[in-house]
Amino acid sequence: MSEVEFANEIKRDLRLALEKDQLFLCYQPLIDVRTGKVASMEALLRWQHPKKGMISPIHFIPVAEETRQIIPIGEWVLRTACRQMKEWLNMGCSGFSISVNVSVHQLQQPDFAKVVFDILNEIELEPRYLELEITETVLIEAMDTVVRNLYRLKEMGVKIIIDDFGTENSSFRYMQKFTVDGLKIDKSFVSEIKVDVNKAIVDAIILLGHRMGLDVTAEGVETREQLDYLVERGCDKVQGYYFSKPLPPDEAIRMVQKGYQMFHVSSLCSQVLPRGRRSERHKRRG
Ligand code: C2E
Ligand code: CA
Ligand code: CA
Repeated sequence: MSEVEFANEIKRDLRLALEKDQLFLCYQPLIDVRTGKVASMEALLRWQHPKKGMISPIHFIPVAEETRQIIPIGEWVLRTACRQMKEWLNMGCSGFSISVNVSVHQLQQPDFAKVVFDILNEIELEPRYLELEITETVLIEAMDTVVRNLYRLKEMGVKIIIDDFGTENSSFRYMQKFTVDGLKIDKSFVSEIKVDVNKAIVDAIILLGHRMGLDVTAEGVETREQLDYLVERGCDKVQGYYFSKPLPPDEAIRMVQKGYQMFHVSSLCSQVLPRGRRSERHKRRG
């Protein structure tokens, strides 16, 4: 089948995927380097296609964006992830938040912040439990509607994180105008951390983030070597296959329930960063 044929079939079938209950979410933990505990769970969308099997979001999200189906799908993701978070809180699991990926097309909807507000109200979930991951493109394409939505969300108490940081040209100009809560270093820099230029990029992003008072996460951590480097450089959170693949909700929550101290990263952290330096930085970040 040609790429065009595949894309057309995806386009056609995606229309029914939501109705026919073929979409579901997996959750991948983000680990706090200082405590070794789960700080957040990122919701990642999956499509179980009746004939094609599991389809990666890399293949269907761009189609959903092109056809605008990302609007109802994105709303379903938000509601499902928030419901899941509420269920976990009701089970007595706390100390972490839920992260949801949001497309620029959703943020371009004038009522997007209201949609989020209504979902949180309906589920009775406090906004502090929700983080939205946006890409740099969102800031670069920032138009009045996007900026207004982001301001409203921040006012509500929802956290905004820039995903895949470092992959777009540069959103510094926009970061000057709009403050976010955190940066996520793209996995392409982490996977090739042995290469000096990537080390330099990772160092620079961590430094920049901390100077701006932001939380810095590294995604795509697969090896101990990568983890050691990131911890040594003072990265705040880590995420990747080294800790866990994206998992169904009941498996993901087991990590929190066990109070899992992920590979004793906290003890590693105190060895590497002298206490004085760490507390100084945290004081500055307030
Ligand atoms: P992302 O938000 O940057 O998510 C990280 C991707 O890296 C995920 O792929 C995750 O499974 C994968 N990953 C995590 N740890 C590792 C690791 O250690 N090594 C490697 N090689 N990969 C790792 P996934 O789930 O296939 O998602 C791909 C992309 O699709 C996401 O990238 C995100 O941009 C998009 N996406 C997923 N779910 C949603 C959603 O609900 N809404 C929107 N708008 N986009 C979504
Ligand atoms: Ca993400
Ligand atoms: Ca990412």
